Amino acid sequence: MALSEFELIRRYFTRQTPINTATQLGIGDDCALLQIPADKQLAITTDTMVENVHFFADVNPCFLGHKLLAVNLSDLAAMGAKPIAVSLALTLLSADEVWLAGFTQGFLALAERYEVELIGGDTTQGPLTLTVQAMGLLPQGKALLRSGAKPGDLVFVSGPIGDAGLGLKIMQGYACLQPEQALARFHTPMPRVELGLALLDVANACIDISDGLAADLNHILQQSEVGALITFEAIPLSSPVLAYIEATGDSLLPLVAGDDYELCFTVAPDKVHSVPDGCFQIGVIEAEPGLRLAKSGFIQSFTRQGYEHFSANRR
Ligand code: ADP
Ligand code: MG
Repeated sequence: MALSEFELIRRYFTRQTPINTATQLGIGDDCALLQIPADKQLAITTDTMVENVHFFADVNPCFLGHKLLAVNLSDLAAMGAKPIAVSLALTLLSADEVWLAGFTQGFLALAERYEVELIGGDTTQGPLTLTVQAMGLLPQGKALLRSGAKPGDLVFVSGPIGDAGLGLKIMQGYACLQPEQALARFHTPMPRVELGLALLDVANACIDISDGLAADLNHILQQSEVGALITFEAIPLSSPVLAYIEATGDSLLPLVAGDDYELCFTVAPDKVHSVPDGCFQIGVIEAEPGLRLAKSGFIQSFTRQGYEHFSANRR
């Protein structure tokens, strides 16, 4: 690389003053050091994005930096964890300074927004691959697990579903009259960090919607050994997504499209009054396994799932 690895790290990733009180030692030594309060558990997650698999080669690097961090913070949000720190492993074909400046701008702006410290990482040369490990704090024993749903729980989503999926369709050539919102949801999703924290004593189970509502809800159902009945008409849809469904007949989009990064969670009936405003009840957890969909008054069992890695149906 024209720019040395050390110069690159100094120029783009090192800041002078820590932004999170957990940081005892940040970038520059062999390891970073974090101080974890005695009454807290550390939640850790890792997500990798590979060029031409998870993003288009020509994507705006600022969007990419944002999204890479957002998808990791979204996993913390889905557990109810408060993000404190991230590490960043970058494999780059070359040290393209325009690209690096854009990427770090998107990444560090979102990190700053949540007071998440970039505490270290690794920088290597090779096909463009981006990995983040994110760390967050949870009150002991309070994590929102996928395995906690119980029959009778009500199923919620935290906002409109399908916009990011529509954004991907627009990228692939679908002509949409109002593309801005869908493209923004696809390129720069906002992790639902505050909501995850607010759900800590409210939800029985929670997941973030990365692979599609049906596939991700199915993870809750399988790990909780329960089923669910979802009412299609109760799923919140934006007007561009409604217009898309009307124009194409593709009413599966909100169930199978990923990348929305809203939360899907279940709540016992006696706690429903504590669900924060802006969430939508879309169904109910049942004892009988499987995902069922009520649509136009008919109940059908739902088998077609959203995107799963290593299956042949998408990207
Ligand atoms: P080592 O050889 O001990 O692995 P490196 O030379 O890879 O150390 O990294 C030097 C310092 O810079 C370390 O503190 C490391 O965590 C940090 N670092 C390297 N790459 C990145 C990156 N992409 N983002 C943030 N910090 C990084
Ligand atoms: Mg290294």
